[in-house]
Amino acid sequence: MLYVSTRNKNLRVSSAEAILQGLAPDGGLFVPESVPMLTESEMLSLCKEDYAARAAHIMSLFLSDFTKGELENYCRMAYSKDRFETDPPAPVVKAGGEYYLELWHGPTCAFKDMALQMLPYLLSASLEKSGSDKKALILTATSGDTGKAALEGFRDVGRTRIIVFYPADGVSDIQALQMKTQKGANVFVQAVLGNFDDTQTGVKKIFSDDELVSDISGEGWKITSANSINWGRLLPQIAYYVSSYCEMAETGEIKIGEEINFCVPTGNFGNILAAYYARRMGVPIKKLICASNENNVLSDFIRTGVYDRNRKFYCTISPSMDILISSNLERLLFDLSGRDDALIRAYMEDLSQHGRYTVAGHIKKAMDGFIWGDFSTERETKDAIKKTWDENSYLIDPHTAVAADVCRKYLKETGDPAKTVIVSTANPYKFCEAVLDAIGVSAGSASGPRGGVGLIDIMRDVTGMAVPEQIASLKNAEIRFDGSIPKEEMGKRVLEFLKG
Ligand SMILES: *Cc1c(COP(=O)(O)O)cnc(C)c1O
Repeated sequence: MLYVSTRNKNLRVSSAEAILQGLAPDGGLFVPESVPMLTESEMLSLCKEDYAARAAHIMSLFLSDFTKGELENYCRMAYSKDRFETDPPAPVVKAGGEYYLELWHGPTCAFKDMALQMLPYLLSASLEKSGSDKKALILTATSGDTGKAALEGFRDVGRTRIIVFYPADGVSDIQALQMKTQKGANVFVQAVLGNFDDTQTGVKKIFSDDELVSDISGEGWKITSANSINWGRLLPQIAYYVSSYCEMAETGEIKIGEEINFCVPTGNFGNILAAYYARRMGVPIKKLICASNENNVLSDFIRTGVYDRNRKFYCTISPSMDILISSNLERLLFDLSGRDDALIRAYMEDLSQHGRYTVAGHIKKAMDGFIWGDFSTERETKDAIKKTWDENSYLIDPHTAVAADVCRKYLKETGDPAKTVIVSTANPYKFCEAVLDAIGVSAGSASGPRGGVGLIDIMRDVTGMAVPEQIASLKNAEIRFDGSIPKEEMGKRVLEFLKG
């Protein structure tokens, strides 16, 4: 299977190249030339397997440069007991008649682990397969969770170094502390003054700065990205949609073949796009419900067909979704347009020139068939946390709460009888301040470099929910990275790190 750029179908690369490059040289995103279908008998036999085998099978359909044996080997390591505390690593939990797909049982307590425990294997092997003598430099902009998950995934992985930039005032205290205390000899973390879009734009600038890239290359490094624009990030995520469908069928919640919905809290459109691919592969998914926070550029787009980033940017209690440019949407539009690369180029040109574009009628119509979008205000998000806790004794983080709120709105408005799975993306302990506030516990505000850790114990005492070891240990962890830089200095920092 080859991969093409969303902005030029004639630009074809192997799966290993697509993973190595991250972003296509023309600024487009790599997508598989075709989407493999899962037959019903394949689905039935997958459902008899465990998570690692299901994931390896799904990935093998897309990665012709890798053998099934290699992929199975990676999956056994990435989703092993010592990395994920639950079996399966991504269980479906029922609370008060609602279904939650919990994606946060990995090393950093956020759903990004599902992909970022896998990506290092794919990337190292791709480097080998491509015959390159270079080492991989992973450059990542994070709205909070990607950074930590990428650092944890790549730490001390041979032939790699990783640099994570995060917005100084765009992540939670616990998220910042998780990154500042990151261990590993090949890691570097830097806070940037500004919001996530500033940080992401800064990283994209480094990628397109030919002089800088050639300096980096001169030091022996090939730069790549661990953001969800990388196909190697997206692919492992398809697996948990297939696997959770199997799990629901195996536990008798649904009959095989029965259609279900997924409601996904969305930022960069990565997680929900993985659900879209699962649907395209033939998994019986009826509706994808796209849940936005107050930065509701996506849910507006789904309703109107107009993508317009010219709007106020809000810092919300679900910071990993504080995004106005949702990169992965480009992949959906490419597919829905009938792979019309010229049209996608025009939209992306409009987006960069005017901050907006309007999709053609046939694309809007296609979207209306299977996507529904809405958003949750800060007040509604907090109310959703409180309601879920009070009524079902189930504690959810603010990102998951955005999805829970939108899911309830969807069911109320449409009366859809299909079972709907709320995708749960982070452990609530990553967002103690917001969660405690929502359930009505006044804990005072946190400040200082370790602000926020004091709230962990308060939350445990109030809720009785177990504190994951990775979070508990933050109290005493050494701070290795501190201080912020202006975004203009990001490129300079990369070179300093490589030379230092
Ligand atoms: C990254 C993230 C999201 C948004 O996921 P996208 O793939 O960017 O849409 C939602 N919730 C949490 C906790 C996240 O870390």
